[in-house]
Amino acid sequence: MQDDVERVLLDETAIRGRLAEIGRQITEDYADEPPILVGVLKGAVMVMSDLARSIDLPVEMDWMAVSSYGAGTRSSGVVRILKDLGTDIADRHVLIVEDIIDSGLTLSWLLANLRSRGPRSVEVAALLRKPEAARIEIDVKYIGFDIPNEFVIGYGLDYAETYRNLPYVGVLKRSVYED
Ligand code: 5GP
Ligand code: MG
Ligand code: MG
Repeated sequence: MQDDVERVLLDETAIRGRLAEIGRQITEDYADEPPILVGVLKGAVMVMSDLARSIDLPVEMDWMAVSSYGAGTRSSGVVRILKDLGTDIADRHVLIVEDIIDSGLTLSWLLANLRSRGPRSVEVAALLRKPEAARIEIDVKYIGFDIPNEFVIGYGLDYAETYRNLPYVGVLKRSVYED
């Protein structure tokens, strides 16, 4: 598995350190009214796990699974709900927990969808953001790291459903997905 990694971009210490900072910030920002954390399956599982434990508030956690169609390395923008929330978010503060924002298409769709349910607020915490995401209008409240425009894996992020269990974020060797 490690042989398929071109290089490590963010090691465990860097990721945990940054998520601890963001967790402290969230603890301050939401002290009056703890949010529902909405993790986007499956990529955000590791981020949720570490971020939630860095938040010193009685938060709730729920999950959505969405599909942007396709198993490749590009987002299509066509989104479908595979698993919806089990929680009514009307009048609640919602914090979406995401692994990565690339084109931003998935997140824009998700924001519009959740906002239509009458929450008090919807904000976003994402571990990673690629340069393209900066070009479209998404207000992301908490960002872990801005990274270069390369396909990354690990720490929840997959290529064809594998590599999610790597404890770090790395760049996948092009030879793995190009022949
Ligand atoms: P977007 O809609 O912002 O282009 O990307 C949405 C989803 O595509 C992300 O939540 C993630 O699942 C996947 N994605 C985007 N960039 C990468 C990447 O570099 N590596 C992996 N493994 N998935 C990515
Ligand atoms: Mg995601
Ligand atoms: Mg994926």
